[in-house]
Formats: sequence, structure tokens, C-alpha cells
Amino acid sequence: MARKCIPIETQSQALLQSRRRCAICFGLNFDTKLKRGQIAHIDQDHANATLENLVFLCLEHHDEYDGKTSQSKGLTKAEIKEFKDELCSYIENAKRSPWPDNPELEKAHEEIERPYLSLEVYEKKIRIYRVVREFLGSVIAEATTTVEALFQFAQETDEALFLFDKEVSEYIRELYKKGVRLRSVNKRLDNPRLPIGEERNQLADEDCELLEWFAEQLEVMRVMFYKYIALK
Ligand SMILES: [Zn+2]
Repeated sequence: MARKCIPIETQSQALLQSRRRCAICFGLNFDTKLKRGQIAHIDQDHANATLENLVFLCLEHHDEYDGKTSQSKGLTKAEIKEFKDELCSYIENAKRSPWPDNPELEKAHEEIERPYLSLEVYEKKIRIYRVVREFLGSVIAEATTTVEALFQFAQETDEALFLFDKEVSEYIRELYKKGVRLRSVNKRLDNPRLPIGEERNQLADEDCELLEWFAEQLEVMRVMFYKYIALK
């Protein structure tokens, strides 16, 4: 297959943007180490060489994603895009902290006290964000939730109170409560002994409302977390 060349300037922008950190390594393992790698096309269309469509990947992930095995690995375009965006904001956020292999920043490091603190907190915050996103994703996909999922969600967001302010912890509590309600509404609707009639109709309406509410939360929570996680 003939490869269209990526313009040199776009290439350097893509490299600069990623600081040669692999988006998949970061997205899956929070691995921010400098990698040998290549630029891949997010949509796998080699003719589409816009900066938005380019992502730096380590050699291993480049083969997996750009190669024939990408589908079997199950990583979607949307995920790669998200990983890339997250990596970019991570890098933005980390600019004041040293990358160990960047001499210029190492110099700046000497002037900053406790340079790793902000990165640590950032990673913890991103983890909570992911838990919330995953929970929402599963509720939306399954159109319900389970006791196990709710329990796990509560457990994994426990630290949010210390990492964010009241707004976020109250929001997480609201997600949890609505999740509990959704599950109970579904349980009752699933009961074959609940006759067709007023009560069943009301529950079905509530079920719809709850699912619509959950569907909107992907955007709501993104905006909310952005305030707390993006570089200020
Ligand atoms: Zn990688």
C-alpha cells in the first residue's frame, strides 16, 4: 500500500505534542516514559494527515494499532483519541515539572519544590475521572446497573472527597443514588407479577427519565472534571 507522506511540519507538531510519549501506553498504564515509536493515523486512513488525526505510538502499539491486528486488540478510534487528548493535557499540566530526559526542563526542575506532587495528584484525579466515565459507560450500555457495579463505583470513588471539592463529591454521590434507583426500578419492571397498569407505566417512565439523565452525564461530567483536571 502506497503511503502518503505526512508533511514534515505536521510530523514535528505531532511529535512535539506528544513529547514522544505513547498515547496507548499512557491511556492504558499511565506510562509516561519516553518511547521509540512512530506516528500513526487515528482513523487508519493514511491519506488523512491532519494533526488531529495523528498520534505518536511506541513501536509495539504502533504495530498493534496500525497493523492488521488492531481490530482483535479491540482499541477503538474513540479510545485512541481520548488517550491522546488525556496525554496532551497531562503534558500541558506537567510542563512545569521535569521530564527526566528533557535537560531544559531538568534545569527548571531545580527551581521548583516538590515537582512530582502535582503529577501524583493529577494521576489520582484522572483515575477518578476514568472510574466515573467507565461507570457511566456501563450504565448507558446495559441500560441498568448491578449491585456489584455500584459497590465498586462507591469504593473506587471514595477518595474523591480528598482530591476535589464538594461539587464533585456531591455529584458522585448523586450518580450513585440515581444508579441505585435505576437498578431498583429495573428490578420491579422485571418482575412478571407486576401487572400492566398505572404502576408499571410510572416505573417505565421513570426508567426512561433515568436513562436519559445518565446519557447526558457523559458531557456533564466531562465539563465538571475538566475544571479540576485541566491545566489552569
Ligand atoms: Zn505504547
